[in-house]
Amino acid sequence: MRIGHGFDAHRLVEGRKLILGGIEIPFDRGVLGHSDGDALCHAIADAILGAAALGDLGKYFPDSDAKWKDARSTELLRVCAGKIRDAGLAIANVDSTIVLEQPKLAPHILLMRANVAAALDVSPSMVSIKAKTSEGLGFTGDGSGVVAFAVAVVQ
Ligand code: MG
Repeated sequence: MRIGHGFDAHRLVEGRKLILGGIEIPFDRGVLGHSDGDALCHAIADAILGAAALGDLGKYFPDSDAKWKDARSTELLRVCAGKIRDAGLAIANVDSTIVLEQPKLAPHILLMRANVAAALDVSPSMVSIKAKTSEGLGFTGDGSGVVAFAVAVVQ
C-alpha cells in the first residue's frame, strides 16, 4: 500500500464559476484558474499521482498549454486515475478537506463524491469529502481563496 498527499489553492474572483468536485455551486464569486479551477479535483489528482510517485498535475497538464484552458478538472482527474491503473495500481480510498468560508458546501457533498468517484472509477464509498471554514482567518477566512487537501491510498 502506498499513500499520497495533495494540496491546492485558488483565488476567488467575481465573474468566474465556483466549481468544486465537478459541480457548479451558486455563489457571487468563483475560482480563478487556467482550467475550471476545481481545487478539490486538483488536490485529489496530486494525491493519487503522489501515491504512485508519478509526479503532479502540472507535469501532465501544464497551465502554459492552451489545450487545458478552462478544462473540466473531473476529466483531468479521470486521466490521472488512468495513469494509476496503467502503473498496475488501484485506488483504495481518498479523503479530502475543502477550506472555504462561504458558501456552505454540505448540500453539495454527496454529488461531489459521486462525481469524483466516477472520475476515479471507484465506488463513492471510497471517496470522502469534508468541508471546513477557517474561522475567518487568513485568505480562506476573508473569502479571497479556496484551499483543498487530499490523501489517497493506492495498492
Ligand atoms: Mg489548481
